[in-house]
Amino acid sequence: MTFSDALCPSCALFLDFDGTLVEIASHPQAVVVPKGLPATLARWRDVLGGAVAVVSGRPIQQIDGFLAPVVLSVAGVHGAERRRADGSVAWQTVHPMQPVVDAAAALVRAYPSLEMESKRGAVAVHYRQAPQLQFLCLSTMQAAVERSEGLTLLCGKMVVEAKPSCTSKSQAIDAFMQEVPFAGRTAVFVGDDATDESGFASVQRRGGIGVKVGDGPTVARARVADPMAMREAMERALARYTERRA
Ligand SMILES: [Mg+2]
Repeated sequence: MTFSDALCPSCALFLDFDGTLVEIASHPQAVVVPKGLPATLARWRDVLGGAVAVVSGRPIQQIDGFLAPVVLSVAGVHGAERRRADGSVAWQTVHPMQPVVDAAAALVRAYPSLEMESKRGAVAVHYRQAPQLQFLCLSTMQAAVERSEGLTLLCGKMVVEAKPSCTSKSQAIDAFMQEVPFAGRTAVFVGDDATDESGFASVQRRGGIGVKVGDGPTVARARVADPMAMREAMERALARYTERRA
C-alpha cells in the first residue's frame, strides 16, 4: 500500500503539521509554508466532501495562521481543542499545569537556548538549539509531571511536552470519525514523529491506513520520504483524480 493508493475519494484525511506537511524548522515559529500548500489542502477538502483535518500539537490558532486564508477542521494541542467540520469547537477539560509551567520556566531561565511554549492545556520545552540538554529536559519535566495529577509527558523530535493524559491525537481522530463528514470513510493518518505511532495503530485497527513520513521504525503500513514527497504525492493524486473526472 502506498500513500497514493490510500488517497482515494472515500478516505478521511488526517494530517500532522510539523515534519509532515511542512519541514521542521529551527524554531516552532520559523516554519515555512510552501506557497501552494493551503490551496492543495483546500482542494482535497472539496474532493473528500470536507473530510480533511489537521491533527497537531500546536494550537488551532497557529495552524489557521499558517494556512490562511484556508480554514480546515483542526485538532490542536493534541486534541485538547478540536474544531469540527461545522466550525464549532470542542474543548477538553484543562488540568492544573502550574508545576510543569514552573519547571519549564526555571529550565529556560537557566538555559536560554531552550525554548518554552505555553499553550492552553500543554507546556512544551524545545531543545533543538541545545540537543545536549535532552536528558535534563526529560528528567526535569518528568519529575514535574509526576507532581501533577492527570498529566503525562510526550517526547517528540527535540521537544518534551506535558499534556493531559486524556488527550491524544488518536482520540481526536476517533472523535472526528464519529461525526459528519468523516464518519463512514476510511481514515488515513499521516505523521512523522514517535508521538504519531499510537494514531497509526488506532486508525489501522479500524481498517484505516497510517502513513509515516521519513525514516525510523513504525507500525504505519505506508511511508513517504519527507514532507516534500508527501506534498508532491498529494498534488499528483489530485491531478489524477481531477483528470479522471474530466
Ligand atoms: Mg510532526
